[in-house]
Amino acid sequence: MSETYDVVIVGSGINGAIVAARIHSASPETSVLVLEAGREITGIAGEHLVEADENAMNASYEDLMRRARQIEYVKGAVSMNEIEGDSWRDDLPGVFPAAFLGHNFAEFPGASIAWNIGGMGVHWTAACPWPYAEEIPDFLPSAEWDADVEAARELLRVSRGPLVPNPFTEPIFEALRTAVPSPDPSREAGFMPMAGVDRDGAPFARTGPRDIAPFLFDGSAAGVALKTGVLCTRIVSDGHDVSGIVGRDIVTGEERTYTGRTYLVAADALRTPQLLWASGIRPEALGVRLNEHASIDGDVVIDAERFGLTDADIPTPPAGEPFIGSYWSPSIGAERPTHGQLMERDAEGLGHVLGVGWYCSTEIRPENRIEFSDELTDSLGMPHMTVHFSYSERDLEQIRATQEVQSAAANAIGVFSAESSEVLPAGASLHYTGTVRMGPVDDGTSVCDTDGRVWGFSNLYLAGNGVTPTALTCNATLTGATLAVRTARAMVAHINS
Ligand SMILES: Cc1cc2nc3c(=O)[nH]c(=O)nc-3n(C[C@H](O)[C@H](O)[C@H](O)COP(=O)(O)OP(=O)(O)OC[C@H]3O[C@@H](n4cnc5c(N)ncnc54)[C@H](O)[C@@H]3O)c2cc1C
Repeated sequence: MSETYDVVIVGSGINGAIVAARIHSASPETSVLVLEAGREITGIAGEHLVEADENAMNASYEDLMRRARQIEYVKGAVSMNEIEGDSWRDDLPGVFPAAFLGHNFAEFPGASIAWNIGGMGVHWTAACPWPYAEEIPDFLPSAEWDADVEAARELLRVSRGPLVPNPFTEPIFEALRTAVPSPDPSREAGFMPMAGVDRDGAPFARTGPRDIAPFLFDGSAAGVALKTGVLCTRIVSDGHDVSGIVGRDIVTGEERTYTGRTYLVAADALRTPQLLWASGIRPEALGVRLNEHASIDGDVVIDAERFGLTDADIPTPPAGEPFIGSYWSPSIGAERPTHGQLMERDAEGLGHVLGVGWYCSTEIRPENRIEFSDELTDSLGMPHMTVHFSYSERDLEQIRATQEVQSAAANAIGVFSAESSEVLPAGASLHYTGTVRMGPVDDGTSVCDTDGRVWGFSNLYLAGNGVTPTALTCNATLTGATLAVRTARAMVAHINS
């Protein structure tokens, strides 16, 4: 049996939603089908968990969310050991360690995947620092890049400001600016750009895929459909034109081919190349040059007295809001390719702390890659993945340098010892890039062209962090979203051609 649309999209995360939204606004008559393997978590498809009613949210935080590795986000920090007893079930939506599906992620143990409607976009912290200097692909026209960043910011509703009025904010900024100085005033410590909307007396409304493309999740647009619980197992093509995507109903096992004129795969940086591999689409760069910035974690108790304040000055965030403040110490390019994501909160057992999480870019190397198997499969019958990942000598030096920056920043806020700095396991950032890279020429180091179209194909496009070709210091989503905006434009042109 087959169903036909103008556009078929795999993945209902932020990037699938962005492409759907851009196509729908440019060309409302275009029919769009989004296929999503996961299910709903909270009852309202595609909304961020922070919006869910308290019971559902608590269940999500405690039961599902704790499997996600962004320790700042989950209320109680989890260690790798704590999750070892857990396992993956196809009827349980959430974020899971990739290894739970039977893959070999021993060298990338922190890696997780989303298995729910809206993907990681219903879980994310929503920090949206923007790429800078060598993080920006140098082969894209800068005016187009700038316009696309703005469009992505708008779609993600990025703003900068306090989460709650807070007397600690300015003293923290002052301390950080002195401890981690920047030659460029626009790259000094300040508020973290966050994707969402500020609300009086309620948690910061983080942007979920539903906010990006509401019509996709509420069924309000004629010709636009979201089918969930459908695992895409194969892209059908003759090596140049895609003629359909085979989807398998997770419950019944029934297979169906969905046909369109144009296709997009936005199934994350691990499963997008997996689906291409499963379909016999195997460019040399597929899964190669997996990149991730290293994550260095830590907490410092804020020394209120140092800032002329007392514990009585600590504001209480609205119920359901885990953070008091969200700050950013930006990178300054090659000289200091490291940035701080600094989250102020009241932490159980610690008190009033600043989470001093730092990310530093790592080298892009072909040795860091996903190896797909033709013999073994994962729990879903898709190609088994083994991730090869290590840090180069230069990466290790950069990690050490970042720990020094982290320590200087933290000691400007309170007392921070070297032992409090923790390099998280590889994969823990949840910001994986490079596995389906964009490139200016088909020279074996990229999978898609500057429109996000797979080399050699007329109608197969890719979106998501895997497309990002540069080594990012910043959190990955805004960059991936910027490239998705670009790809959506190319798809609209293709549809109208
Ligand atoms: C807890 C947490 C905190 C985070 N915080 C931040 C942050 O502060 N800042 C930041 O920049 N980023 C953050 N991230 C990462 C951010 O959420 C992701 O970069 C972004 O959401 C990726 O969107 P995506 O659409 O590319 O992929 P995903 O969200 O992974 O969506 C892919 C979708 O495709 C579906 N899918 C996969 N394979 C198939 C298939 N074969 N068939 C059908 N469907 C399939 C999946 O189920 C999934 O829903 C965080 C992530 C998490 C989990």
